[in-house]
Amino acid sequence: MQQMTNRLTTELRRLSFENHDHCVSCGHPFREGDTSHLGYGYDDSPLYVCDGCINKLKETAIRHYFSPRPYDVPEPSSKLWRYMDFTKYVSLLSSRGLYFTRTDCFEDTFEGAKGFKKNKAKWDSYYFEFFRSAIKNLPEGYKCELSDSEVDEQAQKLLSDLEAGGKAHKKRTFVSCWHESEHESEAMWRLYSNFLANAVAVRTSYQSLYVSLGRDPSINIGRIKYIDLKKNYAGVNDAFWRKRESFEHEREVRALLLDFECQDLGKIVPCALEFLIEEVFVSPKAPPWFARLVNDVNEKYGVAVKVSPSELVEDPFF
Ligand SMILES: [Zn+2]
Repeated sequence: MQQMTNRLTTELRRLSFENHDHCVSCGHPFREGDTSHLGYGYDDSPLYVCDGCINKLKETAIRHYFSPRPYDVPEPSSKLWRYMDFTKYVSLLSSRGLYFTRTDCFEDTFEGAKGFKKNKAKWDSYYFEFFRSAIKNLPEGYKCELSDSEVDEQAQKLLSDLEAGGKAHKKRTFVSCWHESEHESEAMWRLYSNFLANAVAVRTSYQSLYVSLGRDPSINIGRIKYIDLKKNYAGVNDAFWRKRESFEHEREVRALLLDFECQDLGKIVPCALEFLIEEVFVSPKAPPWFARLVNDVNEKYGVAVKVSPSELVEDPFF
């Protein structure tokens, strides 16, 4: 088997990010535990292939044990909405960047949580046993030299590390939240704008959001899965992609990135607004002059997008 060179170009990272679930050469769908190989072909083009296609690789950069993503990726054309106050909209235009909130700053205290505290003992005992078994059962040819009490001590330490890691992770995880829907939502106007008369909704799509953030393979974009946390836990790698069922109405799609350096409560990620903003809607409660103001501000910042009235203010007939 080829030596890994660890040479990962952006193109190679993008290729594996965009085709995560299958081999780009033969289309083989990867399953949990399969090996995926990242590298370069004989014409130096990036390749992301399965075991059966490794003869196509001139260079292997890295190989991974495949594990499925903890989230579903929306269709490229899936519509995403962001309801916001006018001040936040102006900030989006002036900074030319999308604000990602640090996950410990959200109102939902369950953000990144693995379960209900009252169910923690069961979780702890499962992982304690898991770590004990991993420490005792070494790969073939190795023998565990530790006494039972030393094994317990090490397993307990790993469990404590897991817990501390979960808490620390909230300060390294940054998120931009979107609402997935084909239509404008009356409820979302109310939920996500503090002053309804001065609110706008930005409409984009999965593909436009991804492209506007520079097709950055370190930013994951996917659907939140709503689960019954009373009966379930969020897995170790799933916690930021799971929410309680009571949030189901949010139909959230989030863009998520990790930053181990940033100490701020959020960070602005450069964003190509001409790709991001497909259309802007003004609040159904906005006064008539408000749409003109939004247009003026767009013009000032050189953003040529269509500003539409809310579809909720159409006149009915009876
Ligand atoms: Zn293949």
